[in-house]
Amino acid sequence: MIDDCLRLLIVDDDEVDRMSVRRALTKSRLKFELSEVDSAEVAAAVLKESAFDCAFLDYRLPGQSGLSLVRLLRESGVRIPLIILTGQGDEETAVSLMKAGASDYISKAKISSEALSRALQAAIRIYKAEQETAMANQRLRETNELLIRKNRELELQREQIQRQNMQLTEVSRLKSEFLATMSHELRTPLNAIIGFSQILLRQTKGNLTSYQIDMVSRVLSNGQNLLALISDILDISKIEAGRLELKLEEFDLAQLIQATVDELRSLADQKELLLKVEIALEDSQICNDYQRMRQILTNLLSNAIKFTEDGCVHLKAEALPANQILLSVKDTGIGIAADQLEHIFDAFHQVDQTVTRKHQGTGLGLAITDLLLNMMQGSIAVESEYGQGSCFQIRFPRRLSAEAQTASAKSFVTSSQRFLT
Ligand code: ADP
Repeated sequence: MIDDCLRLLIVDDDEVDRMSVRRALTKSRLKFELSEVDSAEVAAAVLKESAFDCAFLDYRLPGQSGLSLVRLLRESGVRIPLIILTGQGDEETAVSLMKAGASDYISKAKISSEALSRALQAAIRIYKAEQETAMANQRLRETNELLIRKNRELELQREQIQRQNMQLTEVSRLKSEFLATMSHELRTPLNAIIGFSQILLRQTKGNLTSYQIDMVSRVLSNGQNLLALISDILDISKIEAGRLELKLEEFDLAQLIQATVDELRSLADQKELLLKVEIALEDSQICNDYQRMRQILTNLLSNAIKFTEDGCVHLKAEALPANQILLSVKDTGIGIAADQLEHIFDAFHQVDQTVTRKHQGTGLGLAITDLLLNMMQGSIAVESEYGQGSCFQIRFPRRLSAEAQTASAKSFVTSSQRFLT
């Protein structure tokens, strides 16, 4: 039941027929305000000017059929429900009336409060539902247009980001090339400085004072530090510029581990650290780049020794399923705070970045290790507890093939699985 007060219009030239509609409506329980007109012309003008909820139209108006009136009203934008009151025998025209836009029809002979009330309520309900659908459609259209606009904007932004990305890649490539060239140029004079300091320190002529020996030793050690830094920069820029190639060969991993450990043992001895090696490999032959593998091992071992004051450094090599090798370097050193773990593989990142820091280094070792392992189709992971020690683990295939290496260089990504679970 519609509770609102309905504004209704009767269009009929016959006063008696208008009265019977009025009576029937009054008898119904509907609340309404009724206006009456007796011609199609006045009806058209009134409906255009005032807002009604529904109109009852006589099918046979003087000079105008109900059908053409319905058409006229619909064409002029009148949307409210129009119910046609048909005379005897006019029902056949009902179909064409409905097609023209009438909402319903009632035979005048059957006018009753129930029939009018039912038709009126049904027509208004349908009208409201249609209006709601139209509004929802309109909202959908607007949302759609908004989405299309947003989409276009996003597309433009995406293109802009892509352009910037390309520019950045080019700048980065130029930077890496510049660094690679510069590092190469710097190494030549530096090697001369190191070489001549070594000759001077050999003291063949024995004519250096102890003060001069001290000075030359400092030149030598600073030169060597600088050379290590330049080599690291050269490595990293070569890898980033895609100009580093692995030289694959067959070698004995156990022998490489032993040689690296022997070289670093004096550093561990100086700090009275226990340097333990455990090779749990039945077959220690592998195919990889010997020098680069040695560089990775040296990085991990020298870090472990550098950042450990008491206790031990434990290196273990073992075989994993699917022809993989796992090397772990575990220490009882200073450890790494959890919030630093994700940064230690970034180039130049050091946990202690103060000028007064205790440990020397360039902050490039782990970045290079990570990049090299990536080229080797391997990965590095770390687990550490601040103040307790760290464990670095690397995995790589036992046999790295040239094809696999090219493929991995192409899909080059700098971040791999880093944290042990
Ligand atoms: P560098 O050793 O030259 O500073 P690395 O890239 O090898 O540079 O290491 C980056 C940083 O990670 C180090 O400065 C140090 O803070 C931290 N780190 C690396 N290895 C260890 C370790 N075994 N124990 C504690 N901290 C470590």
